[in-house]
Amino acid sequence: MEQRSEKSTVLIVDDDELVKNILIDELSQEYDIISAGNGQEALDKLEEYGEKIEVIVLDLVMPVMDGVTFLENYRNRKEYQKIPVIVATSREDIELEKKCLEYGVWHFVMKPYNPTLLRFRIKNAVAKSKLLVSDKDSVTGIDTKFTFYEKLRRLLAEVPDEKFAFVRMDIDRFKMINNFYGIAEGDRVLKCVAKELTRISEVFEHFLYARMENDVFVCCLPYKEENIELMVNALQISLKKLNKDYNIKMSCGVYVIDDYSLDVTQMYDRAYLAAKRCKENFSKRVVYYNNSMVESMRREQFVINEVNKALEEEQFVLYLQPKVNMILGRPYGAEALVRWIHPKHGMISPGEFIPVFEKNGIIGRLDQYVWRKACQLLRKWIDEGKEPDPISVNVSRVDIYNPHLVETLSKLVTEYRISPHLLNLELTESAFVEDQELVIKTMKRLRDYGFQIMMDDFGSGYSSLNILKDMEIDYLKIDMKFLNQDIGFNGKGEKVLTSVVKMAKWMHLPSIVEGVETQAQVDFLKDIGCEYVQGYYYAKPMPVEEYEKYIEQEHKKETKSLVHANIGVMNELWNPRSATSVLFDMLDVPIAVYEYKDDKIGLLRYNKLYEERIMTGDGEIIEEESEELRTAFDELEAGSQGTVIEILRDSDKWYRLTIKRIGKKSGVAINMVTFFDISDCK
Ligand code: C2E
Ligand code: CA
Ligand code: CA
Repeated sequence: MEQRSEKSTVLIVDDDELVKNILIDELSQEYDIISAGNGQEALDKLEEYGEKIEVIVLDLVMPVMDGVTFLENYRNRKEYQKIPVIVATSREDIELEKKCLEYGVWHFVMKPYNPTLLRFRIKNAVAKSKLLVSDKDSVTGIDTKFTFYEKLRRLLAEVPDEKFAFVRMDIDRFKMINNFYGIAEGDRVLKCVAKELTRISEVFEHFLYARMENDVFVCCLPYKEENIELMVNALQISLKKLNKDYNIKMSCGVYVIDDYSLDVTQMYDRAYLAAKRCKENFSKRVVYYNNSMVESMRREQFVINEVNKALEEEQFVLYLQPKVNMILGRPYGAEALVRWIHPKHGMISPGEFIPVFEKNGIIGRLDQYVWRKACQLLRKWIDEGKEPDPISVNVSRVDIYNPHLVETLSKLVTEYRISPHLLNLELTESAFVEDQELVIKTMKRLRDYGFQIMMDDFGSGYSSLNILKDMEIDYLKIDMKFLNQDIGFNGKGEKVLTSVVKMAKWMHLPSIVEGVETQAQVDFLKDIGCEYVQGYYYAKPMPVEEYEKYIEQEHKKETKSLVHANIGVMNELWNPRSATSVLFDMLDVPIAVYEYKDDKIGLLRYNKLYEERIMTGDGEIIEEESEELRTAFDELEAGSQGTVIEILRDSDKWYRLTIKRIGKKSGVAINMVTFFDISDCK
């Protein structure tokens, strides 16, 4: 290997042999000296030694090519500009000095040379040039961060009238390229970007560029939207040419420099913020910075700073949003939605802090806090003698990676002595795609323990219907996105919704549609047979006390209008996936479930055969028949578990009815009636 001299190299350009020799004597202890007798020779030496030369000491008055002409050439060669030039003058000439400065000269020394002073100047220049010259990226050979920043500071100071754009670019999924195709391929991609940037740099008078780290590149160019567009296109095309097997996408964040009080590193931060947005949106290749991005970053930081205190001081509060059983038209359970009641800033919505918590690993703590609160609440209700419906809690996709998840949840329900059936778990659809194997395993363990799982946000875009067949879940929560259009115009959303609900039925999965806001939506969802809904139309998320009052009122309403009674026992039947339900629909005799209180009878649920053979056109119970049913139901009231009666229908059809009591709640009796056709025996 070539032994590199530790000494820096200085090029001395002077036509006076004597002066040159004195300087060489003076300086050769510390520096390797190269000399030239005029401007042309100096250019030749530059060509020969290139960037090895770290400082140029230049006399201005020389034959063949004078110093100023040399500087003109020097200025036109980008690669030379990082070599500092010290100009020697023998007279004070302001105009000449100005011209030299314009050409990028760093310093002046007076002739005849004062050796001490010259040494000092050279030393400073070398130090500075080292920063600039030696700081080259080893993979791509282009500037590194440091050089870029130095140059950019200089550029902004020297060309204050030009509007520049600071661009930060990186390669999406670069790690994947490295891991999958190997480091060499990764390097090839980086070199390709660097080469293209170098090519582009030749088009512009001012164009700085560098590789910051890994797959991150930056550049600064005169701002015009089409400049950026062209650059991004050029990069994309050359990457495409490089490898046709996979699609390489670059994400670019652009900060159009408008605040010159910022340091270049802060300009980078702005371009970076924009780039982050770009990454989040796969269809975008370029995102421009705007001030609201800083605001959102500030808020993010605020959220992180405040979270510990907030947890300690219990600033997080549980809100409950009822779910409504569409068949019964009554609330059934609720979803726990967390709210942050900040002492100074008031209520902060989860949309703002949940994503930040997920990014920063805080979500696990918050979720466990919410789960505990939900368990405490269920325990409290049970202690008060209520028979609560389940509360569902959100389980972040991040929680799935917690190896103690199942243990944590099972410990919680044990601690509060509640059935795991009462705590339903909502897991967002996107979690199911991330690490399917892990999710399937975890869900199975949770279900084996007795928890019920809801796939949340179904249809929000990540998964296909296909995924459902592999997943052990109990409910499908359908994303409210489907409801965005106006219902009732046979739009695409409704069609999708209809088939999703239908498909869920085939899989014996009850659907819960979220975000229901209007009567029209409710009617539509009833029509397509959706089992549960949740939305502002019925109730917004509310504090616990309010929810308790709400439930109390709903109960009162129910006992008044008996038709839709509140029967917990029935939930099995409303759950089309439950064994009871499946069996119910499979039986080849007509069968129906009635509620009964204070002489009032309501038809709650029936199977297909009942619908075909027994039910009247308008679904009402025939008066004479109801008389007989009443008598039978009263008999059960008196204590018997079941009874049999015979009735005549449509003047020629005889049925034997076996009537069984299957439950009673809040004074409402639930009776199941089976209709055996005995006409042939009569
Ligand atoms: P999500 O689980 O999909 O919750 C439903 C969101 O829809 C809630 O927003 C709810 O208030 C809102 N919503 C309900 N009905 C309607 C309606 O009719 N119209 C409209 N426009 N919106 C409706 P919220 O409470 O702001 O929560 C947002 C998201 O934050 C939740 O979406 C959930 O993903 C997350 N989140 C909330 N609490 C927790 C928690 O304790 N843990 C975790 N990990 N995430 C939570
Ligand atoms: Ca949810
Ligand atoms: Ca949801």
